[in-house]
Amino acid sequence: MELIKGAEVVAALNKRLAAEVEKLTEAGGRPPKLAILRVGEQPDQVSYERGARKRMDKIGISHQEYVYPADMEKELFYQEFDRINVDSETDGILLLRPLPAHLEEKELERRIDPAKDVDGISPINQAKVMAGEKDGFAPCTPEAVIEVLEYAGVNLSGKRVTVVGRSMVVGKPLSLLLLNRHATVTICHTRTKDLPAECRRAEILIAAAGRPRLLTAEHVGEQTIVIDVGINVDENGKLCGDVDLASLEAAGAASAATPVPGGVGTVTTSVLAKHVLEARLRK
Ligand code: NAD
Repeated sequence: MELIKGAEVVAALNKRLAAEVEKLTEAGGRPPKLAILRVGEQPDQVSYERGARKRMDKIGISHQEYVYPADMEKELFYQEFDRINVDSETDGILLLRPLPAHLEEKELERRIDPAKDVDGISPINQAKVMAGEKDGFAPCTPEAVIEVLEYAGVNLSGKRVTVVGRSMVVGKPLSLLLLNRHATVTICHTRTKDLPAECRRAEILIAAAGRPRLLTAEHVGEQTIVIDVGINVDENGKLCGDVDLASLEAAGAASAATPVPGGVGTVTTSVLAKHVLEARLRK
């Protein structure tokens, strides 16, 4: 089994993006700018923010962090949000989620300027993904999966792809992105009757269930390409994906697979950078 390493996808993407940013600034243009909004100190959000900042620096995208207390009053937060939303120097907005419940995430999804919605949370961008329109923004994680498949030289047209998971963050938008690229898509979820059979039919199997090592050799054919989106902590406190790679290796299943960590997750922030650059260039 060949391992598809996220770092290789990232290196290729970063190189391309950095060259485009350089072209823009050499021509006298302002570099793209991302606003990162974080409410509270949730460790996974703090660490995602750190990773995003580093990635933007590497590519030449400027960024500004806005950090608010978890008990911030709703109207005050909306005022801040609206101010950043209309700021002409801000090209993209990343709102780290989940937000504290009283801030009503749904309201912010509707408020965000779709042109700055670089993580594809607004209903307008969701509709654009559904319609296959290219001037919107898909959420970064599903698009990272597409980047990985493209890097691996996979032509999706006509391929049987099974996606395990139907969330609005990963499974559903990813299924639409695949469909827009002419794949034949099956979406599985908790009520799917025979998950192993649905998975075994796939030429490309994508795991986005959030269940540690849910998919084993029983789910995977010899020639299947397996993309693992899952980021879980197992019973020993170790980071792991939704796919049991050891089981696949022992059985000689899968022609290629992404590891966790070091797979799709690392590509997400480069897709974020790509979106910020696109938002800047569309202005
Ligand atoms: P979620 O909990 O919102 O959705 C999980 C989906 O999987 C649901 O639709 C559910 O029906 C399905 N599912 C769960 N258990 C199943 C089972 N046993 N059989 C079949 N289907 C099952 O999770 P999410 O936000 O979509 O995230 C999924 C995974 O991806 C998580 O591990 C998450 O940490 C990871 N994730 C990774 C990134 C990244 O950058 N790589 C970003 C977001 C999420």
